[in-house]
Amino acid sequence: MLYNTLTRRKERFEPLEEGKVRMYTCGPTVYDYFHIGNARSFVVADVIRRYLEYAGYDVTFVMNITDIDDKIINRAAEKGVEASEIAREFTEAFFQDIEALGVRPADVYPKATETIEDIVRHVEGLVESGAAYVVDGDVYFRVEAFPEYGKLSGKNLEELVAGARVEKDERKQNPADFALWKAAKPGEPSWESPWGLGRPGWHIECSVMSQKYLRETFDIHAGGNDLIFPHHENEIAQSEALTGKQFVRYWLHFGFLRINEEKMSKSLGNFITAREALNKWPAYGIRFFFLQTHYRSPLNLLPEGIEGAVKGAAKFRAFRDELDAMSEGARSFDAEPYRERFARAMNDDFNTPAALGVLFDLMHDVRTAAADGGIDRPSNDAVRDFFDRTVDGVFGILPPPQEALPGADNALVGDLVQILIDVRNDLRKERNFALADRIRDALAAAGVTLKDGKDGTAWSYSPPESTNRG
Ligand code: AMP
Ligand code: ZN
Repeated sequence: MLYNTLTRRKERFEPLEEGKVRMYTCGPTVYDYFHIGNARSFVVADVIRRYLEYAGYDVTFVMNITDIDDKIINRAAEKGVEASEIAREFTEAFFQDIEALGVRPADVYPKATETIEDIVRHVEGLVESGAAYVVDGDVYFRVEAFPEYGKLSGKNLEELVAGARVEKDERKQNPADFALWKAAKPGEPSWESPWGLGRPGWHIECSVMSQKYLRETFDIHAGGNDLIFPHHENEIAQSEALTGKQFVRYWLHFGFLRINEEKMSKSLGNFITAREALNKWPAYGIRFFFLQTHYRSPLNLLPEGIEGAVKGAAKFRAFRDELDAMSEGARSFDAEPYRERFARAMNDDFNTPAALGVLFDLMHDVRTAAADGGIDRPSNDAVRDFFDRTVDGVFGILPPPQEALPGADNALVGDLVQILIDVRNDLRKERNFALADRIRDALAAAGVTLKDGKDGTAWSYSPPESTNRG
């Protein structure tokens, strides 16, 4: 079941072709580094895609790169470089940052500038059918040619016009008409077209890029809430007016990341880039933080929240290591009910908070069973398989194995730690606990944790909190 913005209710998901899903998500406009709010949308789309694959679908996932746009042109003018140079720089940065976030690459990343011919052909078709008109080298979509205009956002045309939600413009027949093609201004990048030199409007790019790789009708189109109107409304109008077929079957929209209870956006200037966030926190912590909230709800960014999520994710690693080290017992432990509960949660409009709850229950129950006689090998294998396929495979929040001790191959480090342990144990025998604790605490601050047992003191190393990056 997933919530479809088009019908405003949860619907049973039935792909057009059995076992296959064709999915598109609006990608970045590459004029700057993307912020942690954009990152939420990219991570959520990634988890939805990964879950559909986990559920057995063969998913074709397309995300566009908007590499020609007013914002890119303006940024280039500010910096005194070509627009294509800005686009190249930030496309590269985009790929670096989504990789660092653990977002799996899309099957195709079409670029607007590489789709111009297809866009021109689409616009020509709309002009021929009367759904678009040309004014001095600009081409506008005629909203009145598409009676269903407003069906996604629930807005109606008269209200839109009367409420002055759209600017009046002499050149347009209806103030709600929007540009499909923009005549070139001096010095701007432009391409040949039947209407003279120009460039595509933003909305038409997504219609054409998605249909080029996913065909005229496809299953899922996703993006942030802000895109419902006008972007996605316009995508529907331009696509369906030409093909006469339904454009997209399920529209998914993601809640916004907020900061101080205000939406995070580049125009408000209240953002931190994903890059900055990744310098502070490991990707698994950021992802875990996002997934603790349902994807449609707004989420307020709090550093404490992400720090808590980093610690939460560390519990998955600890459990995973315990599973490996667990001695074989006689009890069988059935992972199946957890697999079912996990699927039930995710099948209910991708309820990630509930699905995480199932994983925490699993950890608790396995530990209880392990403490009470231990679980047998086949059960351990089944738990591990399910755990890896969900925590790591679907959510991407399993911290990597503890980083090796720097210089661990250098026996000297081990020897020095052992000397400190021996001195500390002597101090404890002399009941000089103050000094013994000082050694333990100082080692802990350096990332070395001591564990006293009946066979002596063992130690382990994990990088101290501030540098603990995945
Ligand atoms: P843009 O590069 O601005 O076109 O945005 C790329 C994606 O990020 C789109 O799907 C937007 O809807 C989404 N987005 C923008 N701001 C936020 C935010 N604060 N929280 C979540 N998603 C966002
Ligand atoms: Zn789009």
